[in-house]
Amino acid sequence: MPTLSIVIPVYNEQDAISLFLDAARPAVAQALALVGPDARAEYLFVDDGSSDRTGDIVAILARLNPDVRCLSLSRNFGKEAALAAGIDHALGDAVIPIDVDLQDPPAVIIDMVRAWLGGAQVVNARRTDRSSDSWFKRWSAHGFYRLLNRLSDYPIPENVGDFRLLDRQAVDVIKQLGEQARFNKGLFSWIGFRVATVDYVRAARGAGTTKWRLGKLWSLAIDGITASTTMPLRIWSYVGGGIALLAFAYAAFLIVRTLVTGVDVPGYASIMVAVLALGGLNLLSLGIIGEYLGRVAREVRQRPLYVLAGKTEAQPAPTVERLRA
Ligand code: UDP
Ligand code: MG
Repeated sequence: MPTLSIVIPVYNEQDAISLFLDAARPAVAQALALVGPDARAEYLFVDDGSSDRTGDIVAILARLNPDVRCLSLSRNFGKEAALAAGIDHALGDAVIPIDVDLQDPPAVIIDMVRAWLGGAQVVNARRTDRSSDSWFKRWSAHGFYRLLNRLSDYPIPENVGDFRLLDRQAVDVIKQLGEQARFNKGLFSWIGFRVATVDYVRAARGAGTTKWRLGKLWSLAIDGITASTTMPLRIWSYVGGGIALLAFAYAAFLIVRTLVTGVDVPGYASIMVAVLALGGLNLLSLGIIGEYLGRVAREVRQRPLYVLAGKTEAQPAPTVERLRA
């Protein structure tokens, strides 16, 4: 059984793979040295339906190196699914998902393992400097995490990507989560456990080009919000309730005014009251549907109600027989 599983999703990365292995091997060796002389690592590549020579390259590497394994997906399922496949098949006591493009510097693995040996079960790697990413990516990511954290009922740290260390116990919980619209960063935060954080500076891409198109990032963002929150559905209860209240107050005012001062524009009062009241009621009922739909969404996700971190029990009480003996 390997100690560390390095899980690397790859999609059309033929130029990056051997660069990655050359850079990762020394860092991983140092990290293993911290654990002990018998510690081993496995590199698990997940070929996410590449159309270039990536699949052949990882297959050859896996045949030549006892510490390299590869999975290949039947088509491009996207990074979230590829990562889920890798985590499912990783054998190590700790699993580290990492990008192949060396934007996640392998040297950080040493700090992660140190924190893991110190008792942390999840070690997040936080990017302190993202100047290698475009300003648009930084700005949109910042806005996204602010919105997400305002809506979500558990915090999802900003500037922490998929690059982190997950202890076996955490991995086994992640494997139980069967949800389809996968947003790994949300799941990794949702599971809890003892969390430590190490800081690093995000590097520029080693080779190749980014595999994220704007459209894909957008749907990842929507997945992230809908998979971690129900607030956007429920907000209409409050908006609708507020508007309905105001509408009824205004209606009362219009009715009284019409009774006292008479009609100036015929029909104005009745139309206004009908429009406002119905508008408010519409939103309110949408909100009520949202309350139920939010609960349905949560049921459909089928996440476990809780995650046990461990169990401490007293010794079983001595039986009468044992006392007699
Ligand atoms: N990736 C993947 N499937 C995809 C897109 C990306 O497995 O559909 C992998 C990619 O090969 C890389 C990692 O996910 O190892 C991160 O991708 P990238 O560097 O393009 O993302 P960025 O760093 O620009 O966010
Ligand atoms: Mg990258």
